[in-house]
Amino acid sequence: MIKVFGHLNPDTDTTCSAIAFAWYLTNAKQLSATPYVLGDLNKETAYVLEKFGHIAPATLSEVTADDSVVLVDTNNPEELLPSFAEAKLLEIVDHHKLVGGISTPEPVTITMRTVACTTTIIWQLAKEANLTLPNDIAGLMLAAIISDTLKFTSPTTTDVDKAAAQALAEISGVNVDELADGMFAAKSDLTGMAPADLLTMDSKVFTLGGKQIRVSSLETTKPANALAMQTELVTAMADMKASSGLDAVFFFVVDIIASSATLIVASDFEREVAEKSFEKTVTNGLMELPGVVSRKKQIIPALEKALS
Ligand code: MG
Ligand code: MG
Ligand code: MG
Repeated sequence: MIKVFGHLNPDTDTTCSAIAFAWYLTNAKQLSATPYVLGDLNKETAYVLEKFGHIAPATLSEVTADDSVVLVDTNNPEELLPSFAEAKLLEIVDHHKLVGGISTPEPVTITMRTVACTTTIIWQLAKEANLTLPNDIAGLMLAAIISDTLKFTSPTTTDVDKAAAQALAEISGVNVDELADGMFAAKSDLTGMAPADLLTMDSKVFTLGGKQIRVSSLETTKPANALAMQTELVTAMADMKASSGLDAVFFFVVDIIASSATLIVASDFEREVAEKSFEKTVTNGLMELPGVVSRKKQIIPALEKALS
């Protein structure tokens, strides 16, 4: 049995891609494949699974040399279980920059395309294989595209993502606006979440210019709720750096409606890097970034340039 999973701190694309690609492997390749996640689901993803009547994939906390695995929505070893290198990697399906660091003893199938969402690639693969997607799988794949593109407003969005979303909406019989409203409301609900939870909910670790940095974002329709926690978030970022050995933690509150971000600055180091990256100044510990919504296409390239 093949284990299909995405990155740590699973998001909607990673979770729905694992489900959809396990379905694809089963139906296009007649393989036995099961989806997994590497951690707790966020509220948006839980909403989406409930909406399409899908059970949550089981959580995987370790892999061994006996496991055959397929990776979706990441190619970054820093986003995987420490035991990942033990497993037999068969395939990667992803839409992120190639970071390197994964090596295999045998050839593997890699499908990486410059689209906004992994399920867009899976939609293309299913089409190429002349497969008919079931309604619920199509709904999950549509939700992933809405999530990764912030309903087609992110600069990562391509015509292929839009075509995939339209086709998936038709198959699943779902109204895109209604689905997006429900997802964004679920995502924006911060009740019961500690500042430290917000820092890791949608978060990736990169090594840029020799510095290990965590880049977290909180996509929300209610940025004021998160910004009201600025002091607690700054304390949580300092604690995280002290306990994890990270050089920096960047926390971006992304306003989905206004298409803008506010960076909450953790310390002088992050302030210096941010000012160099975005050519803006920090006021009261915050940097306003109109038009910035994408970690992949806007934030990481800017930080990488400043740190290299
Ligand atoms: Mg993802
Ligand atoms: Mg993705
Ligand atoms: Mg995302």
